Amino acid sequence: MFWSLLKICRKLEVYSTRTDQAWMFRVKCINRLLPTLERKKLYARTHYSEIKCRKCKIETETMEHLTECSLDQVKWKSIEKDVLEKVIREMKESTQEKMSTGLLNGILKWEEENTSQSRARRKRFMRGIITQEIRENLRAEGILRKEATELLAILWNKWIDAFYEEIWKPRCQTTSEWEKKEGLEKKEKSRRKKYKRKTTQKQKQEGKDNQEQRKRILEERKGEEEKLREIGLEEVVK
Ligand SMILES: [Zn+2]
Repeated sequence: MFWSLLKICRKLEVYSTRTDQAWMFRVKCINRLLPTLERKKLYARTHYSEIKCRKCKIETETMEHLTECSLDQVKWKSIEKDVLEKVIREMKESTQEKMSTGLLNGILKWEEENTSQSRARRKRFMRGIITQEIRENLRAEGILRKEATELLAILWNKWIDAFYEEIWKPRCQTTSEWEKKEGLEKKEKSRRKKYKRKTTQKQKQEGKDNQEQRKRILEERKGEEEKLREIGLEEVVK
């Protein structure tokens, strides 16, 4: 009993300390909204004439390309090996008994490399899509539905974390250096400032409104308290 409670607490802790940033990253991945150069060209009012991946400088930097770039393939291999080991360590004991790194690797087909299928699976996985085939293969190994869901949740979370830390973060570093050099950053910033100015004015007004409302509530409460006190006094007097 104690242990299961502790486990729940640990779980809660994990989720409450998860930063907003990591959470937003997941939302953006699922909805295909990462600010890649392809997306920036579409939506930023700056002149991104060059939207090729800053690493290979051959392909357009789309979200999918982040999993496909030829210069990241070695990294991806080590990322996924690492993720698998972590998942095996962290899954429930009952699942652990039925699962091994090799077996899970086989089910996920992560050992397949540089085939169109292997490329497709990373693209799918990035967006949180897990195929029926994977679920069925897990069931075939005696993994219960609940266990499978938990396993896949851990797996996706670990994978996304690694994608964020080891692919996306370095990519942002490289890109921002390049943007600085190209003078793209300045333009982007001034656009953001304008937007910020607009919102702060709005927020100020909202703040004022809130303050006034709070004042009103406090005054009303004060009146009520006084009334209560009067009643109380009357009762004592009686
Ligand atoms: Zn590339």
